[in-house]
Amino acid sequence: MGKGKLIIISAPSGCGKSTIISHIINDPELRLSFSVSATTRQPRTGEVNGKDYYFLTQEEFNDAIAENALVEYQEVYAGRFYGTLRSEVERIQSDGKNVVLDIDVKGGVNVKREYGNNALSIFIKPPSIETLRQRLVNRGTDTEEAINQRVAKASLELTYAEKYDAVVVNDVLEEAVARTRKLILEFTNN
Ligand code: ADP
Ligand code: 5GP
Repeated sequence: MGKGKLIIISAPSGCGKSTIISHIINDPELRLSFSVSATTRQPRTGEVNGKDYYFLTQEEFNDAIAENALVEYQEVYAGRFYGTLRSEVERIQSDGKNVVLDIDVKGGVNVKREYGNNALSIFIKPPSIETLRQRLVNRGTDTEEAINQRVAKASLELTYAEKYDAVVVNDVLEEAVARTRKLILEFTNN
């Protein structure tokens, strides 16, 4: 059994990353497993420690950095750190499964640089900024101010798309899922 590969999925907030991942994560042909990141942000209602994230204090997160336990980390929002745990990536890879990383656009570029041909980086794009705004409004999880911040940040993050191996436009969900699935299948079978 070969060592698993890395599938990096990045996008500005609200572009449909979680939705697309949820449609492919249990596909038996893809042999995927989700890498649970560490974060210093507070858990949201319903989130489970060890499943959605490993929720760490800032001190614990600093220790993880010092011990080289993180493959990469970013301060994605002011005062809120997120990082990929080396232990997650290695555990999943040694099980022969492919590692799915849901990480921000900067972290994605760093991981791709480190893993080279053993990683496929996919950037999910919204059809337009206006559509992105509308989806964030419909999702109903953010205040108007938070939505304005996310949209402003998205405009900058979209400029990272060209640094990725592939770009998937999430217009019709089923088509975006099918294209993502095909990209992963082609990559992991080679
Ligand atoms: P992310 O994980 O990138 O922040 P989500 O997966 O939470 O984004 O998607 C943001 C919102 O947009 C959710 O309410 C989701 O149901 C909706 N959504 C995702 N993809 C589509 C699509 N292709 N068409 C319409 N709505 C979508
Ligand atoms: P949220 O707080 O909404 O769960 O996630 C916010 C952002 O952090 C998302 O863009 C997500 O992709 C990113 N993120 C989650 N885990 C990691 C990680 O381990 N590293 C990096 N760089 N970004 C992450």
